[in-house]
Amino acid sequence: MNHQQILHMDLNDPLANKREEFDLPENKVYLNGNSLGPLPIRARQRAQQVIDQQWGQDLIASWNLHQWIDLPTLAGEKIARLLGAQTGQVICCDSVSINLFKLLACALQLRPHRRTILSQKDNFPTDLYITDGLRQLLGERSFKLVLVEEQEIETAIQNDVGVLLLTQVNFRSGKAYDMQRLTQLAHQHGALVIWDLAHSVGVLPVQLDNWNVDFAVGCGYKYLNGGPGAPAFLYTASRHLGQIKQPLQGWMGHKAPFEFDWDYQSDQGIRQFLCGTPPIISMSVLDAALDVFADINVEQLRDKSMGLMSLFLDLVEADAALASLELLSPRQPELRGSHLAFAHASAYALCQALSENGIVTDYRSPNILRLGFSPLFLRYQDVWHSVQVLSDIIKNSLYNEERFNREIEGARVT
Ligand SMILES: *Cc1c(COP(=O)(O)O)cnc(C)c1O
Repeated sequence: MNHQQILHMDLNDPLANKREEFDLPENKVYLNGNSLGPLPIRARQRAQQVIDQQWGQDLIASWNLHQWIDLPTLAGEKIARLLGAQTGQVICCDSVSINLFKLLACALQLRPHRRTILSQKDNFPTDLYITDGLRQLLGERSFKLVLVEEQEIETAIQNDVGVLLLTQVNFRSGKAYDMQRLTQLAHQHGALVIWDLAHSVGVLPVQLDNWNVDFAVGCGYKYLNGGPGAPAFLYTASRHLGQIKQPLQGWMGHKAPFEFDWDYQSDQGIRQFLCGTPPIISMSVLDAALDVFADINVEQLRDKSMGLMSLFLDLVEADAALASLELLSPRQPELRGSHLAFAHASAYALCQALSENGIVTDYRSPNILRLGFSPLFLRYQDVWHSVQVLSDIIKNSLYNEERFNREIEGARVT
């Protein structure tokens, strides 16, 4: 593969012009869009408009005038389009952690005689922390959280399981579960499913309605590019909506919040999942960022994401200097999400050295180099360039330099 061919791939890329919708730093290749998506130009414009005009001038009238009150469902419907969900089932609110708490409580109500929540040992920690916290709140005997290895999930789905709680794409390895198949299997055993789509939404084609998924959650700030701390979303199949009661019953989930009733009467639709006042500024920014997706479909994103990752892997495998990188993600594109993970003894130092050379990647303890391939703004030439830089760093043992090997201070984020 030569550079000319790579440039040709960019010329033939149907998503090539999407890059212009982002404000990207110069001379950087951003392989971290799976952790924090970059800034869409329309998101900045919207932030300015919301602050200067809506908040600054129109003040409280904006709740109606600028539809602040409907923002959670308006943004929710834009996300629903990316999830294969019909209207009225997705709402934008809170964080993934809080939404999981609400949905777990609801799922347990629907399976009162089942005592097991089944998940994976290597699930994203917050999913397990939240489940454990709910268990402590409800009493240690209310249910048990059973954690198994990834390859044991299928056999562990038995008739005692009330809820199967899984993240579709593993945040470390990038390995993706077959959501349709596992949902079906869970249902055959009388269990409900909650899927965490943090590393799926905006890049993997999913069909929540067609696959009969019960509940799902996901992030606004990863592939959806909604900005740091952007609100998350949740999905509840309409067949469950009338039969559940989410426990964080704040006034915004009341069927008539502005009647200030003494009694809580929950909204019967998806709005019942609202708790308090939505963060209008950050939700507006996410809402604007979602418009980047308006004229494309998820299949196009998936095709390009697989193309970028295949190119990266082909170039790495063709370069003898890079043999020390051990691929932890599945080699088969259909089995993974949109990031690649490599084990390397000096993964942390590699990540630092790459960063100094303009390639932004991610490090996951203890030895993982993680690279996200967000198809909206990355070019094939960026992939080519990244492999060249990586190769130079390893060939010249640049990562051994002292400045790349200092201990990390403070916390690292997702
Ligand atoms: C990023 C991520 C989250 C984040 O949860 P928040 O509560 O929104 O911070 C949750 N689950 C998974 C799998 C993630 O990757």
